[in-house]
Amino acid sequence: MPLTRDTPLTDLPGVGPARGKKLEKLGLRTLGDALEHLPQRYEDRRECCALRDAPRDRPCCVSAMVAETPRVSYIRRGLSLVKVKAVDGTGTVYITFFNQDYIREAVRRGESYIFYGTVERQGNLFLMTNPVFEREGTARTTGLIMPVYPLTTGISNNLIAGLTRRAADSCLDGLPEILPAGLRREHKLCQTQFARKNIHYPADFEALAIARRRLVFEELFVLTCGLAQLKDRRAAGAGRVMEGDVEKFAALLPFPPTGAQRRAMEDMAADLRLGRAMNRLVQGDVGSGKTAVAAFGAWAAAKNGAQCALMVPTELLAEQHARTMEALLSPAGVRVGLLTGSVKGTEKKALLSALAAGEIDLVVGTHALFSQGVEYKELGLVIADEQHRFGVAQRGALAEKSGAVLPHILVMSATPIPRTLALIIYGDLDVSVMDELPPGRTPVDTFLVGEDKRARMYGFVRKQVSEGRQVYIVCPAVEENGGWEDGPGMDLKAVTAYAGELRERVFPELRVGFVHGRMKAREKEDVMGAFHRGELDVLVSTTVIEVGVDVPNASLMVIENAERFGLSQLHQLRGRVGRGKHKSYCVLVTASRSETARERLRALCATNDGFQIAEEDLRLRGPGDFFGKRQHGLPQLKVADFAADMELLKEAREAAQALVAADPELKRPAHRLLRKKVRELFQDNAELFN
Ligand code: ADP
Ligand code: MG
Repeated sequence: MPLTRDTPLTDLPGVGPARGKKLEKLGLRTLGDALEHLPQRYEDRRECCALRDAPRDRPCCVSAMVAETPRVSYIRRGLSLVKVKAVDGTGTVYITFFNQDYIREAVRRGESYIFYGTVERQGNLFLMTNPVFEREGTARTTGLIMPVYPLTTGISNNLIAGLTRRAADSCLDGLPEILPAGLRREHKLCQTQFARKNIHYPADFEALAIARRRLVFEELFVLTCGLAQLKDRRAAGAGRVMEGDVEKFAALLPFPPTGAQRRAMEDMAADLRLGRAMNRLVQGDVGSGKTAVAAFGAWAAAKNGAQCALMVPTELLAEQHARTMEALLSPAGVRVGLLTGSVKGTEKKALLSALAAGEIDLVVGTHALFSQGVEYKELGLVIADEQHRFGVAQRGALAEKSGAVLPHILVMSATPIPRTLALIIYGDLDVSVMDELPPGRTPVDTFLVGEDKRARMYGFVRKQVSEGRQVYIVCPAVEENGGWEDGPGMDLKAVTAYAGELRERVFPELRVGFVHGRMKAREKEDVMGAFHRGELDVLVSTTVIEVGVDVPNASLMVIENAERFGLSQLHQLRGRVGRGKHKSYCVLVTASRSETARERLRALCATNDGFQIAEEDLRLRGPGDFFGKRQHGLPQLKVADFAADMELLKEAREAAQALVAADPELKRPAHRLLRKKVRELFQDNAELFN
């Protein structure tokens, strides 16, 4: 049987059912899968040196003959050594293997081997420890650039390398080329066979770079083709025509809108007039005033006899937004409702029937807004606030739910998303950027302090309160078992215990409340309400207050164990203060001695520019952590690196847009395979393409 990409790995010698299971954990079932399993990094094992000439600072290969039968010695329980003495024409090397007794049998006196490792010197002696080795002449893992793969327990790199080698040797002929020839020429991309062979077994690093470039391009191209198609489809989708006069709406606001708010609203008004479904992203830093822009949308929808659903990530935020919207819009006759997971029983029934009857114009809520059993009479606009979590998939699902006339969609993002990532995640949206803060804001002064300054920090809290201000104190988590890995000397402030301590011992004279994510919604709301009304001086909380919470009188935020948060998250948190007319502060408390951690936090002290912080965060943590796992609902990328491959992303995206403009359904014969790939990539949200 010739090997093909469909050959199960368990058909290969050396892969039994047990290994097969383990390989499946890595997503490897067939030779084709092995071909797609890409190295994490490479080891340059090409250099071969005489012992005498071996470099001291990096590993190399040494060809040497074993001069004596290897000896094993047992040092103590769990520690054994195999010692091997080998010679080449220039010296003698003493090689030690720890806890690898089998080597005694595997290495024979009188035979020559290639050893790959760092050659150390002690006087005239050469030493090596735990080198990679293989018989001279049968070399498969030395004398080359060796791929290093992601592994799982029980699966060695050599095993996987063996599989990818088989795959590269036997399954590349006839591998179909999905990139059209013209495109490859124009963007100087190598052929698929070359790319797939050299990404595993590069002839040299230049070949590797060429291979990688092609694969990154291909991946980003397929992805952006899919996104371009989505955008196309939405643009073709009919939307309800709505008229909304920004000036008239502005009269309802307690403040004159900023230029940026005005522009975002005008962008929206223009979209709503077109008769096409709007798909707009409003991107603006914390505190730039996005709520007012959302209110404009809801108002316009109501004026035009349609309903608006405003979706937010937390109940806390839903409650707050409902209050704000009610205050702002009910004078204009807009009827506002609240729907979260904790609205239950008769209250919920009444709300649902009012929604279905069209007696509510604006409903604010969590994802409960789109759960089963929620019906709208005339849903005209969906607004997703604080939502990098409202990704392509959710928007697609929503489009599914509605009829021939799609609701308009407005996504508001407060986490400034690095441009690269925004292109991908929101690649199918039009964008309004709000690059201006309301007047009178002064930047939040941010300080980094160690445990030694704790008493002073508490003093500062008292001082703020004595001036009539309010204070947030944020801790990383509610007491959890094993939620965090505690480093040495780190004291994780469990919010409950800590709040108690603050209340009883540190600030007995102040009114201290606390909220965390595990509390009942009603309790949370009570505490938040009290803080909002100024009945509490200090609010101790977890990150439940991260997004959107708005208490302008709060002027100080203390963040405990600050090193445990991502930079963007800290910036979000910090955005809870400095929202009113008072000079505001953020104090980052850390006991961490790690210079990298402190460096990271200092970056936050140095700037208030959310975009700059986001870029830095992305650079430090990569896109996966930036959003949490797959929150953006997009397919996982295998080769491309958002931070490093920005230029190529732009190139691939432009090419994709041009191609989709010319052949929207990818129906041309030359695009058949590409079309298939796009579908495969988006298979988790296949409904988007039907
Ligand atoms: P975002 O959602 O963008 O973080 P918000 O909409 O919550 O910001 O607004 C932050 C604060 O600024 C709120 O207290 C809001 O009332 C106030 N605000 C918004 N726009 C203006 C404006 N044009 N002038 C003055 N204050 C404003
Ligand atoms: Mg907001």
